[in-house]
Amino acid sequence: MPRLIADRPVLKMTSELGRVMAAARLREQGGATVYHLERGEPDFDTPAHIVEALAAAARAGETHYPDQRGALPLRQALVEKLARENGIRCEVDDVVITCGGTHGLFLAFQALLGEGDEVLVLSPHWMAIPKLVGFVHGARHRSLPAYLDLASGALTPQALATRLRQAIGPHTRGFYVNTPNNPTGVVLDRAQLQAIAEVAIERDLWVVSDEAYEHLLFDGAEHVSLAQLPGMAERTISVFTFSKSYAMTGWRVGYVVSPPALRPVLGPLLAFYTTHGVFPASQSAARAAVVGPQAEVETMRRAYQDRRDLLLQGLEGQSAIRVPVPRGAFYVFADVSAALQGGDVWALAERWLELGVAVLPGVAFGPEYGDWVRMSLATRREDLSAAAALLQQHYAAARVP
Ligand code: PMP
Repeated sequence: MPRLIADRPVLKMTSELGRVMAAARLREQGGATVYHLERGEPDFDTPAHIVEALAAAARAGETHYPDQRGALPLRQALVEKLARENGIRCEVDDVVITCGGTHGLFLAFQALLGEGDEVLVLSPHWMAIPKLVGFVHGARHRSLPAYLDLASGALTPQALATRLRQAIGPHTRGFYVNTPNNPTGVVLDRAQLQAIAEVAIERDLWVVSDEAYEHLLFDGAEHVSLAQLPGMAERTISVFTFSKSYAMTGWRVGYVVSPPALRPVLGPLLAFYTTHGVFPASQSAARAAVVGPQAEVETMRRAYQDRRDLLLQGLEGQSAIRVPVPRGAFYVFADVSAALQGGDVWALAERWLELGVAVLPGVAFGPEYGDWVRMSLATRREDLSAAAALLQQHYAAARVP
């Protein structure tokens, strides 16, 4: 038998989320109730006018090979949206439509990284990043803790700049930044982004700016796009997706905005030879999402904020689970160091699953987060309340200080 899986480290990586979901499924098959706080999947339906736009476009014959860079009407609508909402000024040729944000990030790392190159990943970071970097043979990522210290005030913007400068090595080519952040819900402010920009410019590095949760902001938090800061448009690939803002995870539509220098590579090579573009009718529907009414985006945003408040209230006073207040995205990242009781975070996640609460261990988001778990707010209100009550009862009974 030939060796079927090539000897590349990335092909040996496993999914932490897959592991939790499989364990949860097993318990459910055994008849147990499980509250699913592990996944980041909006439970809302895609707004009806977007679904209708897809049906109309498919009926009208938008079923053939797409332009690999994306449909012009969608890219035009996005150029206007980027100027209006993100302060990013670009031309249609600088926007490429991708199969969701995941594909956008894949293309970005493929374009930017070569063998031996390293990207500094501000952490905790979305668990797909090590895999997406790893698909570039010989490229590496390094986790650099940032969001929690910035949110607590332990790290000032100037101290962040120093931390970045100290972490940069001879092979560092750029940074990966994600605001609003999955998993912490931290929203970087202008001064913090300015500190990242200052170091990127000074050391002539690029930045991949992941803005998947740009519309999911709480308590009046403001989303600032890194590429709008002076000197950054020429060194930033900004990655967006329709998945979260419009509850369109299954549609696989996202987009990247990049400097003109990347035009020959992103569309004609990378998008063309990975997916040959995105289903044209989906792109027409995505255009309807951008130019149409935004009321449902706001309804979903409010619902996530309301669920955040509900979960935080449910866990209030519980010293075994300490929760910094998220300002965006739809997750709560909880410090469970007082609950570990000598075991590791996987053992804790298993204990919680036995109670009926599925969460994702913090180590999925960087090696430094063995004392943390992520709970998703993309979960029904009743389930969040029930999960919080189960945890409260458990720790009240266990008398954890
Ligand atoms: N970036 C971050 C930080 C995410 O959490 C996700 C999805 N969970 C994505 C990008 C990509 O989402 P999609 O591929 O569905 O657009």
